[in-house]
Amino acid sequence: MLPGRQSDGYWNERRQDTVTAWCDAQKARAGRTPRGALPWVGGARVGPVAFDDIVLGAGHNGLTAAAYLARAGRRVLVLERRDHVGGAAVSARVFPGVDARLSRYAYLVSLLPRKVVADLELDITLVRRRYSSYTPRPDGAGPSLLVDTGDPAATRESFLAVTGGDTEFLAWTRFAARMGRLAERVWPTMLEPLRSADGMRALVDDEDLWTALTAAPLGTLLRDTFTDDLVRGMVATDGLIGTFADLDDPSLAQNVCFLYHLVGGGTGHWDVPLGGMGAVTEALARAAVAAGARVVTGAEVTAVSTDGVVGEVTWRQDGAVLRERAGSVLANVAPAVLHGLLGRGGSAPATADPAPRGAQLKVNLLLRRLPMLRDPGVDPAAAFGGTLHVNEGYRQLQDGYAAAAAGRFPHPVPCEVYCHSLTDRSILGPRLAATDAQTLTVFALHLPIELFRGDHEGRRAQALAAVLGSVGSVLGEPVDDLVLNDVDGDPCIEVRTPVDLEDELALPGGNIFHRSLQWPWAERAEEVGAWGVETAHPWLRVCGAGARRGGGVSGIPGHNAAAAVLGTEPRSVGA
Ligand SMILES: Cc1cc2nc3c(=O)[nH]c(=O)nc-3n(C[C@H](O)[C@H](O)[C@H](O)COP(=O)(O)OP(=O)(O)OC[C@H]3O[C@@H](n4cnc5c(N)ncnc54)[C@H](O)[C@@H]3O)c2cc1C
Repeated sequence: MLPGRQSDGYWNERRQDTVTAWCDAQKARAGRTPRGALPWVGGARVGPVAFDDIVLGAGHNGLTAAAYLARAGRRVLVLERRDHVGGAAVSARVFPGVDARLSRYAYLVSLLPRKVVADLELDITLVRRRYSSYTPRPDGAGPSLLVDTGDPAATRESFLAVTGGDTEFLAWTRFAARMGRLAERVWPTMLEPLRSADGMRALVDDEDLWTALTAAPLGTLLRDTFTDDLVRGMVATDGLIGTFADLDDPSLAQNVCFLYHLVGGGTGHWDVPLGGMGAVTEALARAAVAAGARVVTGAEVTAVSTDGVVGEVTWRQDGAVLRERAGSVLANVAPAVLHGLLGRGGSAPATADPAPRGAQLKVNLLLRRLPMLRDPGVDPAAAFGGTLHVNEGYRQLQDGYAAAAAGRFPHPVPCEVYCHSLTDRSILGPRLAATDAQTLTVFALHLPIELFRGDHEGRRAQALAAVLGSVGSVLGEPVDDLVLNDVDGDPCIEVRTPVDLEDELALPGGNIFHRSLQWPWAERAEEVGAWGVETAHPWLRVCGAGARRGGGVSGIPGHNAAAAVLGTEPRSVGA
């Protein structure tokens, strides 16, 4: 793939000078030495350790950890296999010849703590959306539900029109208020050592909600709280974004996912990063490099081993095999990837997690204008201004899961649509921004990776047709008619299946969170007081989404891994 289509090439083109000299020296050493007998490899022949910390992967969390550690005066090396940094948090000119920088994978921010932004002096702006969500009735009959945070009275009217009374609105506001209190209490703990479950329970101080959320499947809580299928579904989706589960799944994976979607910032708001998700990563990369971290792209780590005291990392770069040792290694890669790297290095695994599995598909589009809606009573700018829920009624979500679990595409595919350019036109070049053009992201649920194995291209086309068909069911005109073409005359539509996510981003099983999310408190006694980043090896920590309290664009595991390395109290980490 052309570099220009993947990212702005920032790190290769403009920052390579910061690392080239060092890499050349490494390669020269490799060249002077007979194969397999590199002088700095293994045992007593190893020279002085050149780095304090080696970070495996330059996703936004790896960069966060690197920035904290380098600011603490440590010598930090970051190795990234792709030709640019950011992992799933990047902007890209996806369509040839089209000046639109889309948040290619992750698109909204909720879980990035202000403390991380302040500590690392990140120059980023997150914009609050006025409209929280728009949920049309799947059958197209009757009015649709518009949640307008700028106008509570209008939101109430909308509930009234959709549900025929005030009961659901009152249930929803009461539920939101209770979840809000819980969020306010849980959120500040994310950058602290782990509390016990009992400690968190006492902090939350809402026994009924705590029990409902942590001891029984989310489906029960939603059915007990709401009666309307559309309202239940709208709330339920927070338990399913990034998680393939029945809402009654006894594992409670959907409950954990739900919690993460509601605690961000202590409010659960999901904001638009100005300039796209790449702006967040660029700010973190700048912070890391400015503090002295060495960030190397095109460096694929192939093994991680140890002499029992320090870690040793082997990677491939420009055809050379390079190795370096450090007293501390931080894995931004997914735990399953780390597992493989340790195996190749002859070390014991860091975790014993089951293989993760992803079930999300993302479609990026560029349209010449916003589509009209099937419901003429709602302004498209309001509907697309928040999260547009498509075929996400409660029953539909459950049916969709059952179909997918049985090996079939859901029909219709539950999905949500979001328009970045309505909030932030800076992602469009000046000529495009002067038109009515809009970007559109469709995030489809319940499409597990198994559905794409085998005939990937055929299944991708089938999934695209199913997703656009689903979206089309709530529109007043075919979306295909509005899609702009790129410079080659091809439609500006990009599909990213779980297989693509696995191949491009090294997300095992295409799981967007590296693995199943975990409760943000200690689940075992020995975890209390730890950071949730520890592994079986004292020199090795997880600094990515696979850590406890990982997942999402947050920098939280990056911060927490750095804190564990520095062995500091939380308040002094940013110093
Ligand atoms: C399609 C999609 C949509 C999403 N939407 C949102 C959203 O809107 N909001 C949100 O908060 N979250 C969202 N997420 C989740 C979020 O993007 C991730 O949880 C988060 O970006 C993880 O960051 P990370 O730094 O921990 O890991 P990653 O971003 O996965 O970075 C890991 C890095 O390690 C590198 N790597 C892997 N293997 C090696 C190796 N062997 N050697 C060297 N480097 C290696 C990878 O190339 C990558 O750069 C989404 C994810 C996806 C995929």
